[in-house]
Amino acid sequence: MKVILLGTGDSPGTPVVGCHCKTCEDARKHGWERRRFSVLVQNGSKNIVIDTSPDLRTQLLLTGIDRVDAVFWTHCHYDHFSGFGDFYRVQRDVKVYTSPEVHEDIEKYMEFMKYKKIEIESYEPIELFDMKITLFDVNHPPLRKSHGIKIENDGFRVVVSGDTNRDVPQKSISEIENTDLFIVEALAPETYRFRKHMNSSEALSLARQINARKVVLTHLGHFFPPHTVAVKKYPVGRDLQCFSFGQDAELNEFF
Ligand SMILES: [Zn+2]
Ligand SMILES: [Zn+2]
Ligand SMILES: [Zn+2]
Repeated sequence: MKVILLGTGDSPGTPVVGCHCKTCEDARKHGWERRRFSVLVQNGSKNIVIDTSPDLRTQLLLTGIDRVDAVFWTHCHYDHFSGFGDFYRVQRDVKVYTSPEVHEDIEKYMEFMKYKKIEIESYEPIELFDMKITLFDVNHPPLRKSHGIKIENDGFRVVVSGDTNRDVPQKSISEIENTDLFIVEALAPETYRFRKHMNSSEALSLARQINARKVVLTHLGHFFPPHTVAVKKYPVGRDLQCFSFGQDAELNEFF
């Protein structure tokens, strides 16, 4: 199994259009960016995309992915679903998995697209492409539903937090304990506070609470310093970062 961070940015991405802060200027000058949030999970020849970012076309071209076999949506915000049309026109038979509430909310925007809707419930695992996948609830007000996703394969456990504040339900904490890789949202450094997102210290405290073996911060805003500076202080992810779970039962990180 491989997990690739297709996009590690927040909703405007970095650089932000029209912003000339130090981070956005550094991104322009050195040619790096944080595209919008999306995670690719590969198992054998199968590709699962968690959230279909507005940058999905570029992300699929950059990773050379020809086909998406399944989509999971965490919640109904624009930066997490609106790139669905980027492959809908070339590939119409992909199944999309999420809770009934999230389907209902996204369908309001996607009524012109008749996608294959699969309803799943939180805490009820499904088997897909030799992986066990479980949705769990997080807390992203004012939304009624926002989810994280747990993926288990070959004894390894990967958890993607989804957009959430620090107030994750206890039932979800129990669901995601002892994860090998925790991909967790942190919109900004510890000096910022948000009602619906976590900052870096909240994300890291959640990682400690669930006893995560390796932590990667994602959904990062331009509030963080430029990547080369931020990475010295925080375990920030970067676009196209890949984690592989090999036969030797070790978590390897490459490129
Ligand atoms: Zn978001
Ligand atoms: Zn900026
Ligand atoms: Zn959101």
